[in-house]
Amino acid sequence: MSNTVVLASGNAGKLRELQDALAGAGFTLKPQSEFNVSDAVEDKPTFVENALIKARHASAETGLPAIADDSGLVVPALGGAPGIYSARYSGLGDAGNNAKLLEAMSPLVGDERNAHYFCVLVFLQNAQDPAPIVVEGRWHGRIALFPRGTGGFGYDPLFEIPMLASTAAEISLEEKRARSHRGQAVVKLRNAIAS
Ligand code: IMP
Repeated sequence: MSNTVVLASGNAGKLRELQDALAGAGFTLKPQSEFNVSDAVEDKPTFVENALIKARHASAETGLPAIADDSGLVVPALGGAPGIYSARYSGLGDAGNNAKLLEAMSPLVGDERNAHYFCVLVFLQNAQDPAPIVVEGRWHGRIALFPRGTGGFGYDPLFEIPMLASTAAEISLEEKRARSHRGQAVVKLRNAIAS
């Protein structure tokens, strides 16, 4: 396998977490921005389809193996929103997304504030790879009443881990890796690549 694998994402938070979790895996993960990859059109209704689209697109444009992460926050009491639209929920970036989520959650109490993060990782050897590795992870929590913490990215200041009474933005990168949707998926990906 090539020593370089392209990450089919421009999200700095995902890149940081995946580079950390894949350290020592035998390849260097580089963001698609280093290869001027154009944006893929993510127009499918599921995380797994969109991850495949992104990985295939990045691999086709670079000629390298590719990893894609398609992930999001799912709130059952909001009908699964923001779901696959997590990145573009408000159209105003992370701060706007968090404000919109808090507003949507304002009438909800108790278990209605339950939520989970979901992550699909796809690994393709090349753009025509007929047997991609596909793994997933899920992280259960609840939506806090107000944002707390400065770590992580995205919805982390609002994603509370009941066992810790902290939000995902208040824990270290190592602790997030050990617990998160992405951390769980990446362990499965490392094992699958190694075998
Ligand atoms: P994607 O780039 O289309 O997969 O969208 C991912 C979006 O889901 C991010 O922009 C965040 O809004 C949200 N998300 C996924 N994983 C996390 C996480 O670990 N912390 C916070 N937000 C996340």
